[in-house]
Amino acid sequence: MKIAETVLVINSGSSSLKYQLIEPHNGASLAAGLVEQIGEPMSHIRHMSGGLEVNRELAVEDHTQALRQVLQLFEEVGPKLEEANIVAVGHRVVQGGRHFSSAAIVDDRVRDLIEELSPLAPLHNPPNLKGIDVARELLPDVPHVVVFDTAFFQTLPEEAATYALDAEIAEKYSVRRYGAHGTSHKYVSDKVEEILGTTDIRQVVLHLGNGASASAVTGGVAVDTSMGLTPLEGLVMGTRTGDIDPAAVFHLQRVAGMSVDDVDTLFNKKSGLKGLTGDNDMRAVRARAGSGDKRARLAIDVLLHRLVRYVGAYATQMGGLDVLVFTAGIGENDVQLRRELCERLSIFDIELNETANAMRSKEPRTISTPRSKVRVMVVPTNEELAIAQQAVELIK
Ligand code: ADP
Repeated sequence: MKIAETVLVINSGSSSLKYQLIEPHNGASLAAGLVEQIGEPMSHIRHMSGGLEVNRELAVEDHTQALRQVLQLFEEVGPKLEEANIVAVGHRVVQGGRHFSSAAIVDDRVRDLIEELSPLAPLHNPPNLKGIDVARELLPDVPHVVVFDTAFFQTLPEEAATYALDAEIAEKYSVRRYGAHGTSHKYVSDKVEEILGTTDIRQVVLHLGNGASASAVTGGVAVDTSMGLTPLEGLVMGTRTGDIDPAAVFHLQRVAGMSVDDVDTLFNKKSGLKGLTGDNDMRAVRARAGSGDKRARLAIDVLLHRLVRYVGAYATQMGGLDVLVFTAGIGENDVQLRRELCERLSIFDIELNETANAMRSKEPRTISTPRSKVRVMVVPTNEELAIAQQAVELIK
């Protein structure tokens, strides 16, 4: 029997390493897991495969040790990697700058370019690179492919990617809008085109998870997106402000005596839903709003207000809106948020099918009625599968 091709997908963060072994042709996940708290006195490893879940607590010093532990778990618990027909290792990389408009096979030059881009994503590219270096060392016989979060947005028109900043300074320090979550926006918008059988549609994709972003996609190409130089710009997120007057930074530095790092932490980690309510998890905020908590209700209203602003702007830029798509944790699961947003978008003559909206499913689906002027869809995202598919496509 011919064994199906698989891809090992690696997402390496500063203190974590997530992985998944995937069959890209059908999306089957053969194993998945993560190593957390790398470098701390006690680390946690979880490996799941074939209905089995193995948890381990032990000190994992660095990413090399983390991947060694993972490889050992594959050996002990399965599936055995030498029998898994791995054709590529796919790596998630956050920032590809102007260099990468699609996935790339890793060689020393590509590796060094990712390192060069680190100042643009200091929290992400260095740990992503660590994962690549370690995996190339421990799995030297398969091609390694990098898939960039920014790549899908390299098609943005200059007017959408350019900040109205001193042009020389912007150029010298690479200050422009790169976007993020591109792998998800591409996966989801491709899926919509596949389902509807055409690229001739104007879509707004709302990726609403802990991080949240909106994109405008028309003719299969991204023409605008809400994240900018970094994933801080745009929508209200779990812990991030999204759009805020940059003068708030000067103000807090001058008046509150905060340092640049203080403001960075405040805007990225202590704001958004968490800053407004104390909870960064939408389920908790929802539950509180349901029981009359005014701060929780305000947080949801701020989030909705921002969403309306983006959907309206993108529809106007594209000259109309054919499909509104929800994805990621909140987008896929929060029935009430979808209803509330569509109600606020009444100018578009959207009519939701309440039964379809309330249905729970892992499948892509339409939740508007046939009469609705805009088709509203829920399309579950799968960034790991997207990385695996892009990796296989590239090596062929
Ligand atoms: P990440 O950006 O970490 O990948 P996810 O896409 O997993 O995030 O989304 C996490 C968010 O989804 C959390 O805010 C969580 O509360 C929210 N979420 C998950 N299930 C539901 C639900 N049933 N209703 C509302 N929010 C939900």
